[in-house]
Formats: sequence, structure tokens, C-alpha cells
Amino acid sequence: MSRVHNFSAGPAALPESVLRQAQEEMLDWHGVGASIVELSHRGPEFIQVASEAEADLRKLMSIPDDYAVLFLGGGATTVQALLPLNFAAPGQVADYVVTGHWGKTALKQVKPYVAANVAATSEADGFRSIPARESWQLSKDAAYVHVTANETIHGVEFRDEHYPRSGDVGDVPLFADFSSSIASEPLDVSKFGVIYAGAQKNLGPVGITVVIIRRDLLERAGQPRADILDYRSHVKGESMLNTPPSWNWYLLGLTVKWMLAEGGVEEFARRSARKSALLYDVIDGSGGFYRNEVDKAVRSRMNVPFFLHDEALDKPFLKEAEGAGLISLKGHRALGGMRASIYNAMPEAGVQALADFMRDFRQRHG
Ligand SMILES: *Cc1c(COP(=O)(O)O)cnc(C)c1O
Repeated sequence: MSRVHNFSAGPAALPESVLRQAQEEMLDWHGVGASIVELSHRGPEFIQVASEAEADLRKLMSIPDDYAVLFLGGGATTVQALLPLNFAAPGQVADYVVTGHWGKTALKQVKPYVAANVAATSEADGFRSIPARESWQLSKDAAYVHVTANETIHGVEFRDEHYPRSGDVGDVPLFADFSSSIASEPLDVSKFGVIYAGAQKNLGPVGITVVIIRRDLLERAGQPRADILDYRSHVKGESMLNTPPSWNWYLLGLTVKWMLAEGGVEEFARRSARKSALLYDVIDGSGGFYRNEVDKAVRSRMNVPFFLHDEALDKPFLKEAEGAGLISLKGHRALGGMRASIYNAMPEAGVQALADFMRDFRQRHG
């Protein structure tokens, strides 16, 4: 067996040690004689797995006690639709800052439920920047302000200075889609009302979604909705209103334990700074052979989209990369070109191998 370096944007590479542990425990979890995925979610074994995952994630991200943490199915897109149902009154405005494809998706999901105001958008420049905080047209009584922390397709990432300061937007809470950058650097959770993320980029396997909610927001009436769409009920039911995605929860728990053991978010911040710099240096030093036109101040540390100077080279690039054990580099169909996703589980050696390959490819085809 040989494992390649997998640059997939999501589902994405998992730490090899996590996969090995899951493999070892597949048939017999901790001497029970059955797989964790075969046991009741209400039994002591899974309750242990579930509560350890929550405790570990709280530790990893320094999540304060006045925040609830949910582990649900449905993906980030379902959260996007549920935000206004749970936190906006009928007819209330919600502000959206749109900095790429996923911000647009968020906007699309809420249209039936809320009067969405696009407070700022970088669409005019092809989503290569983040509009300056001073230019945001925020509404006075908005239910919340929504941002996408990292735009997975366009490769644009908020830095700390782009978020509204507390008090800056009055009592309006900041909601953020962290699907592709959660737990990749230290974050002051208390700046946010809601943080959410599908797990399949930076936190584990697809099929489970983390929603972190400041508890006072759960007192908002929101809009008429079924119990299963109600975050208050999910918090009361400890994410087990119905059968949770237990296998995915288990794998997420193993991944979070691995991140803690590797040194936590401070260590992953250092690694992702080094990893992303390796690729941007090759791109910027290629004399135009490779191109990334995102404003350098907001280039993503997680997803590095780039174009070759001649589209005819795309196919040979992908084919030769695959031959070198570097897979899933094809860009999103919305943008074309290439994209290297380098989340926490991508080792530095993988990124170094890609950087070397890119230099070599340029030499042979430049
Ligand atoms: C992948 C992604 C989504 C969509 O997530 P699903 O879990 O597939 O619904 C939303 N937002 C961002 C930033 C993403 O990267």
C-alpha cells in the first residue's frame, strides 16, 4: 500500500494515524466486541466518545462555557438555512458580507426566511479581496452579520483586523462560516455569536457539522419551525434529538485528539503559515508561469488556487502531478485552474513535494 499526498478541498485528507486507529478499532471498539458504529448512541460507550469529542474540541478551540457546541448532520449548507429560522424574527434584516462562492451560497439559503442585506461584496473584483470594514453598509437592527471566514474556492481568508470589533456593530452578533479554516489558528471565540463548520475540511470526515452558539442567542424566538430545526431543542437534547452521525462523530473525536497531541491551534497556525508560504513563493517567483491574483493581505492559508499561464498545460500538469503522487489538484469548476487545499492534516512534506514538483514542471514546460 502506498498513500499519496491528497490536496482535495473536501472531503479532505485525514491524519494517517487517525485512519489507522479507526481501522484497528473497526471490528472491536475497546474490547466491547463490536464496532462503535454498531452500538446505540444512547449507550455508555458512544456517550463517552461523544462527550470526549466535545470536551476535546472545547479545549482545542478554547470555547468558553457560555457557548453551546452541537454535532449535527446536514452540513454547513443546512446551518446557513437554519440561522435565520432560529435567530431572525419574521421580517427582520440580516447582514451578509459576501467574499466568494460560499458567501453567495449562504445568501441563497436564507432568501425564503429573511430580508438579507448585502452589506459588502467583493464580487466586482472577482472575489480577490475583502472589502474594508469602513465600507460595510450594516443595518441598524440586523439579526446578525454573517461572514465567511475562509472562502474555500476563491482562496480568500479573513484576518483578525477584518472582523468587526466587539461593540463595533452594536449588539448585532457576528456569525461566521468557518468550514474550511476552523481550528487552524488561535481564535477569540467570544467575538462571535455563532461559529459553524462542516467537518470535512479541517476537522475530520464528512457527515457531521459543528455549530458553536453563544447561549443567550438561544433565547431568541426566531421563526416558526419544527423541533428538529430548532437549535434550542438540539442543545437540550445534546445533539441527539434523533440518531446522530455516530461514526463521523467518532472520527471527528479522533482527529481532534490528534490535533491536541500535535500541539494544538498555535502549532497548526505555525505550520499553515509555513505551508502556504511555500506555495505562494513558488507562484509569485514563477515569472507569471503560475498566477494567483488574490490580494496578498487576505490570501488563504488553507486553499491555494492558482492558474497556469497557458490553459493547455492544465491537463499535463494534473497528469504529471498524479504520477508524482500528488492528487486532487484540479480547481473548482466555478473557477477552473488548480487548487491545493492544505488543511491541518496535510503534512509539510506533502506541500514541499508539491512546491518541488511545481518548480520542476515550470522548468520543463516554461
Ligand atoms: C464546503 C463548504 C461549505 C459547504 O459545506 P457542506 O457541508 O457541503 O454543506 C460551506 N461553506 C464553506 C466555507 C465551505 O468550505
